[in-house]
Amino acid sequence: MGFIPISIDEIIKKHLISNPSENEEELRKRLNEALADYKKGIKCSCGNDIWVIGSASVGNSCYTCITGESYPIDDYELDSAIIKRKNIKSGRHIDEIPPSEIMGFFDDDGNEIKTDLIKKPALCIICINNDNPNEKMLCDMTRYDQKDDQEFICYAFKKRK
Ligand SMILES: [Zn+2]
Repeated sequence: MGFIPISIDEIIKKHLISNPSENEEELRKRLNEALADYKKGIKCSCGNDIWVIGSASVGNSCYTCITGESYPIDDYELDSAIIKRKNIKSGRHIDEIPPSEIMGFFDDDGNEIKTDLIKKPALCIICINNDNPNEKMLCDMTRYDQKDDQEFICYAFKKRK
């Protein structure tokens, strides 16, 4: 589940087998451009990270916007575009914070978690709960629980009309 990491040479090889008319140099150039954009932090119009391999064919967009699927099942992504998520702990420990200021989230060890640094999955962007302040806490918890997973599953998801 999730993206299958692949090197740029391998994906080019695969792509050329199924698309023999494709120009190898062109393809490599487009992949490198999409990868450079990804590394620059260029996002899909919906705010998510772009899917480099898909973006090389159709322009910079995320997996969900390109395929309409909420998460990848057996699709490839360049290994260099699959990076470890940033550390989302602020470093403050619950014991260092005056009790009157304690609010928000802490992990099991008591470290404060910055919820605005939790990556928002594509699914959330099209969910009716996305802009609902009453749901934010629950959404943040769901996202935090799955922060290290490549796929995101939410049972509260309801597609926005
Ligand atoms: Zn998108």
